[in-house]
Amino acid sequence: MQELYDIIIVGGGPAGVSAALTGLNRGKTVAVIANGVETGSLYKAELVTNYPGLAPMSGEEMCNLFHRQLKDSAADLISGRALNVMPMGDIFGVAVGNDFTQCRALIIAAGITRENLYPGEAEYLGRGVSYCATCDGMLYRGKTVALVGNNKEAEEDARFLEDIGCKVLRFAENGRYEISGGMKADTLKFRGQEYKVDCVFIIKDTVSVTRLVPGLEVEKGAIVTDRRMATNLPGVFAAGDCTGKPYQLGKAVGEGNIAALSACEYLDSSK
Ligand SMILES: Cc1cc2nc3c(=O)[nH]c(=O)nc-3n(C[C@H](O)[C@H](O)[C@H](O)COP(=O)(O)OP(=O)(O)OC[C@H]3O[C@@H](n4cnc5c(N)ncnc54)[C@H](O)[C@@H]3O)c2cc1C
Repeated sequence: MQELYDIIIVGGGPAGVSAALTGLNRGKTVAVIANGVETGSLYKAELVTNYPGLAPMSGEEMCNLFHRQLKDSAADLISGRALNVMPMGDIFGVAVGNDFTQCRALIIAAGITRENLYPGEAEYLGRGVSYCATCDGMLYRGKTVALVGNNKEAEEDARFLEDIGCKVLRFAENGRYEISGGMKADTLKFRGQEYKVDCVFIIKDTVSVTRLVPGLEVEKGAIVTDRRMATNLPGVFAAGDCTGKPYQLGKAVGEGNIAALSACEYLDSSK
């Protein structure tokens, strides 16, 4: 991982891979922050028949092809979940778990993201609600914590928390949870039952994009962009399912290409 990239892309699905390859073609340094390949929408497709140049194949096979192309490219692949983007003058700081990297232009290619937070989630984030067990687990060593999530990262985080002596109450992500407390969160409510906990770890594949990038304009769950895939924030572009319907592979790849070209133009004009 470098300290400063020209372009960081959040999401390693078709939109993110397309943006990365185009950014590299234009001579930029590129990093892609990506959850596991199995977390993208395309991975779930039984058979994809509408992508030019490729024979019909399963979404899993196609994702693996895209992923291989990305790995073989000059882009740095940073495995993990981007948690927060901080504007710092002309550059952006990006937190990935416990790590931190920076870029001059950002492309969000995070797929369909969930803006609906659990009641109490935003209010208590950083005060008894955490998105990252590796970052915050030690603060709750030996205590009782709830872990909401059913992906691979949640499994690993549950093991880590247990290893450091936490009593971990596990919950699947698709429930209706409420978080409450005083100055700090201390209760998780689910199906009428209250669980007393010291922290609620919420491990989803995606982070709400408005939480990821504060100030980003979003309408009905989709990031608002112009035809250049530019968002309302200078230097921030978006591509793929996160910009709204239609949710289609061809659109995602095309928007990734446009977002990268626009990011390059932005970088060249701000030299
Ligand atoms: C069942 C199914 C079948 C489909 N069939 C077809 C089809 O036949 N033809 C077609 O054209 N389209 C099809 N689609 C739609 C197509 O899969 C999507 O339009 C396409 O995958 C969108 O690409 P994307 O890169 O925008 O998002 P995704 O493919 O969802 O990729 C986004 C990636 O970003 C990651 N991510 C999100 N947030 C973060 C973060 N904070 N940090 C790091 N990584 C992050 C996600 O985990 C994910 O891996 C299908 C979709 C589904 C669900």
